Amino acid sequence: MAKVQKRKTARKKRNTQGVVIKNKVKNETPIKKIRMQTKRMAVSKTKSKKFYVIANWKMNPTTAPRAKALFGAISERSRRLKYTNIVVCPPFLYIDTLKSGYSGRKIAFGAQTCFLEESGPFTGEVSAPMIKSVGGEYVILGHSESRAMGETDEDIRTRADNALNSNLTPVICIGEDARDEDGDYLAVIKNQVHAIFYGMSRDWLRRVIIAYEPIWAIGKTGKDAVTAHGLHETGMYIRKILAEMFDKSIAIEQRILYGGSVKAENASALIDGTQVEGFLVGSASLNAEEFFGIAEAVEDYAKR
Ligand code: PEP
Repeated sequence: MAKVQKRKTARKKRNTQGVVIKNKVKNETPIKKIRMQTKRMAVSKTKSKKFYVIANWKMNPTTAPRAKALFGAISERSRRLKYTNIVVCPPFLYIDTLKSGYSGRKIAFGAQTCFLEESGPFTGEVSAPMIKSVGGEYVILGHSESRAMGETDEDIRTRADNALNSNLTPVICIGEDARDEDGDYLAVIKNQVHAIFYGMSRDWLRRVIIAYEPIWAIGKTGKDAVTAHGLHETGMYIRKILAEMFDKSIAIEQRILYGGSVKAENASALIDGTQVEGFLVGSASLNAEEFFGIAEAVEDYAKR
């Protein structure tokens, strides 16, 4: 465990060089100013942009036969998709089973986390190279449920480094737990982006997917999701932070997804003009019909 501790200390030291991470960023730009600034950074929908719908099954379903049935229903429908990438992130131990039984090419597999080290005496943990070795290509990191169990921004960066080293695509979740009228929640987002991405190479950042998941919108009904306007604004704000940390082209290219109560009923409104490249879906991903309704909305938008 000493190795893990050493890494955390090194990361903390590096992160304090010029970037405020632990404390709230002072004098955060008011929301109106951000609107003005990001207007000039419109991201056009280009042919090179890929669209994603990522299923986070969390700790479901409870048996392998049920997992196979759900996957079968999703893969059957996914054959029709041309422009939308589907990624299924089941519990670790279903990845191998589902991947070996799948002969199609439309669906990729991912895990819901990976450990801070590649191997060693860490009972119960699963590492990035292990995920890769059973055919996983993606890994969700920094989910609010993992953060609630103690995962820090420093841990997320260490896991992301491991994932990238193993040629996995990290899907890194960020997002505030509550919104306020003064726009103070933007400081939470800024601190997370700084803490996780500070000093990352441009090549690695290009391989990352950011999932904006406001905690207050997770696990509710379609009516409780962020508004299209709020999503566009926050997505642009994330790009603005990246432009300041890296450069404008990185910020424009960055893949940003949204997660939080996305359903078939609100997917079209949340993809149209919000300049996100798709969704990370929790509860609706456990119902093939509902999940495919979301994928179809993304597909309709992508092919326009
Ligand atoms: C999630 O937990 O990542 C999520 C987006 O859940 P839901 O779609 O159920 O809000």
